[in-house]
Amino acid sequence: MDSNVESPEQVAYRRMEETTRRLMEEFKLQDETSKSRGYESGGLKVALQSPHELPANNPSMIYTSQPRGSPYPVECLLRGAAAKRELIEYPDFPQEIYRASDLEERAYSIVDIPGKGLGMVAAQDLEPGELITSERPLLLAPHAISSPASLEFNDDATEEQQQAAKYFEADRMLKIAYERMHRDDQAAYMKLHNAHLHDGSGPLLGVMRTNSYGLFDMQGDTYVGVFNDLSRVNHSCCPNTDRAFDRAALSMQLYAVRNIKKGEEITTSYCNHLAPHAARQRALTPYGILCECPACVEHVESDKNRSRISHVRNSVPAIVKWAANPMLPDDLLLAPSLKMLELLELEGLEATPQYLQVLYHLMLICSALGTSSVNPGCGFYMEKWARLKRWDVKVNPAERGIQDLEKIRIASLVRRRVLMGKEQEEAAAVFGASNPEAE
Ligand SMILES: [Zn+2]
Repeated sequence: MDSNVESPEQVAYRRMEETTRRLMEEFKLQDETSKSRGYESGGLKVALQSPHELPANNPSMIYTSQPRGSPYPVECLLRGAAAKRELIEYPDFPQEIYRASDLEERAYSIVDIPGKGLGMVAAQDLEPGELITSERPLLLAPHAISSPASLEFNDDATEEQQQAAKYFEADRMLKIAYERMHRDDQAAYMKLHNAHLHDGSGPLLGVMRTNSYGLFDMQGDTYVGVFNDLSRVNHSCCPNTDRAFDRAALSMQLYAVRNIKKGEEITTSYCNHLAPHAARQRALTPYGILCECPACVEHVESDKNRSRISHVRNSVPAIVKWAANPMLPDDLLLAPSLKMLELLELEGLEATPQYLQVLYHLMLICSALGTSSVNPGCGFYMEKWARLKRWDVKVNPAERGIQDLEKIRIASLVRRRVLMGKEQEEAAAVFGASNPEAE
């Protein structure tokens, strides 16, 4: 066998390097003409070496496909050698995942949604906490890429010229990443919607600004990703899913937060969906979206509800105090918590920390009251809460280090006046010997 024959991987790597060098040469020529566009570019600093050969403080932009050697890699544009090290040294990285297209059965399909272009619909009934898909981005880059810091503008450069130059430079940086992507991924990227055709964003930056999700923070940058199927999920201020980025697998998980019927559209939020209607509309402008979800249509009433919901706070200390005081009525905290839960579900805000918090409060309150005909019991809320936390519901949450339940157990013994021997001592340790019930 001829030892000079390159392996397919070596060929791909050599081509990638050649492409990068060719683009760098092109860019050098463009740099010389940038003066006529009103600014001087510091030039792109691109490193082709392994990050281990670069000093940790090297600030060059790094182009890398990760996980290395994976059949399903992500094209990453990272700022500095330290960022690349942090990415690949993340605990349990890299965990392999499947491409949705390789799976025999998918929980969703991508279809035309009247008035919205393409969107995602459920291909089966989905339950709260159920994983819909886990997908790697086509391209991952720092959010701040659209305003490169190294440009020096002539004194007479207008604001418009400056913005155009920044977009132009950002698109050049993305071009290298794009050229390194697999041909199928390039095609998928260019098929995505671009809401920035007329503001000077180049085609690559335009697609990124229209379709990217924030993923995680690293080395002072927020990193964003553009996805194939996930970028098709339309926005709603009452989304029926939430997203979580799994850094070990370098993939975004999309999971249901309430029951979704087969055929129903799957939605996610592109903005802070607890914010008032006007603020949401402003935040959605860059995506070219005029939202017509129930909360936007009935926005006067919905704004009032969302403002109340945004004031939900951690009430665990108050619940412990109530549980330990038999003079306070049973439904003192139960009734308002049930009302708040109803309001959250009415507003379609199951994908908020407030919803999880109210479920958690109800779990504690019901554990103090015990199951009765008026409440479905601690276990009911515990299971709902654990599912949305994406924990295995068979695992007793108390084993997961929830000491609050233990506190409530002891406090509610005081409430029900059934203290005996060892329990009296436990209660005394938690609430102090001055508590009359613990004497
Ligand atoms: Zn809306």
